[in-house]
Amino acid sequence: MSRVYNFSAGPAVLPEEVLKEAADEMLDYKGTGMSVMEMSHRSKAYDNIIKEAEADLRELMNIPDNYKVLFLQGGASQQFAMIPMNLMKNRVADYIVTGQWAKKAYQEAGIYGKANKIASSEDETFSYIPDCSDLPISEDADYVYICENNTIYGTKFHTLPNTKGKPLVADVSSCFLSEPVDVTKYGVIYGGVQKNIGPAGVVIVIIREDLITEDVLEGTPTMLKYKIHADNASLYNTPPAYGIYICGKVFKWLKSRGGLAAMKEYNEKKAAILYNFLDESKLFKGTVRKEDRSLMNVPFVTGDADLDAKFVKEATEAGFVNLKGHRTVGGMRASIYNAMPIEGVEKLVEFMRDFEAKNA
Ligand SMILES: *Cc1c(COP(=O)(O)O)cnc(C)c1O
Repeated sequence: MSRVYNFSAGPAVLPEEVLKEAADEMLDYKGTGMSVMEMSHRSKAYDNIIKEAEADLRELMNIPDNYKVLFLQGGASQQFAMIPMNLMKNRVADYIVTGQWAKKAYQEAGIYGKANKIASSEDETFSYIPDCSDLPISEDADYVYICENNTIYGTKFHTLPNTKGKPLVADVSSCFLSEPVDVTKYGVIYGGVQKNIGPAGVVIVIIREDLITEDVLEGTPTMLKYKIHADNASLYNTPPAYGIYICGKVFKWLKSRGGLAAMKEYNEKKAAILYNFLDESKLFKGTVRKEDRSLMNVPFVTGDADLDAKFVKEATEAGFVNLKGHRTVGGMRASIYNAMPIEGVEKLVEFMRDFEAKNA
């Protein structure tokens, strides 16, 4: 068996310990004589799995009691519709567009009501986060929406926008559990888990209770109502059971590593190795304004498309895979999520140094 260093933006690297544990339990989960995949979601064994997963997530993120934790399906993209359907009481929402995912969410919201683009960084290919300290928040906005970490462009909100009292809704797919957060600053925090937590197929929604109501847009399908899932503790229908089980294992892994404060420290150390190299390199350049850099997704270029392609090819051969940038941006992108070990980044930088010496 040989594992590569997987720099994929998502689905992405998971902790090896978690994968091994899951493998050990594959045929017989804790004496039940069956795999978690084969188990009723109403069984005692599964009830423990989902309850423990929620409890561990609450502990990790210090989630207050007046927030619900929902394990849903449909990926982050389904939330682009579910959020306006459930939250647009006045049919008005303000969107800060800092990348493709925020743009998609903004466009989707436009189907259901008046979506206002109150700030954007599209003028400079989303390479920075706009100043959001005093934006023209709409008087009747039901919420203000951000994508907190822009997976494709490698920017991150290091300061949350001033929403002037409106609930903040944040897509945290690619920075979920990468550092501590103050949940009370948000109305909704949500993310697809396949970037930093688990296998594709689960989206976690952390939502303040007062935002969960019967008063949703007419025609909202039952399955897209937060209230249905909240009232049924994420077991209204069959949940993505195996995926939630793996998420639960990752929560335990994070706790064993010291929780989110320790993860932040580790992630900062890891990212600094790569960013420091990019800042001194004569061949490779980071593409993002320094103060807005993401700890999770690091895009970079050589400035020459052929050389970029050569780098990606040789890196792959050396065991550093999925470094090709997003198809809309080109160049390279190293995603260095929680489960990427520091050695992976150190060795990548060593490889880049070597490539630079040979190709300068
Ligand atoms: C990947 C990603 C999405 C899309 O996730 P799906 O689960 O494929 O719908 C949305 N937002 C962000 C920030 C992402 O990184």
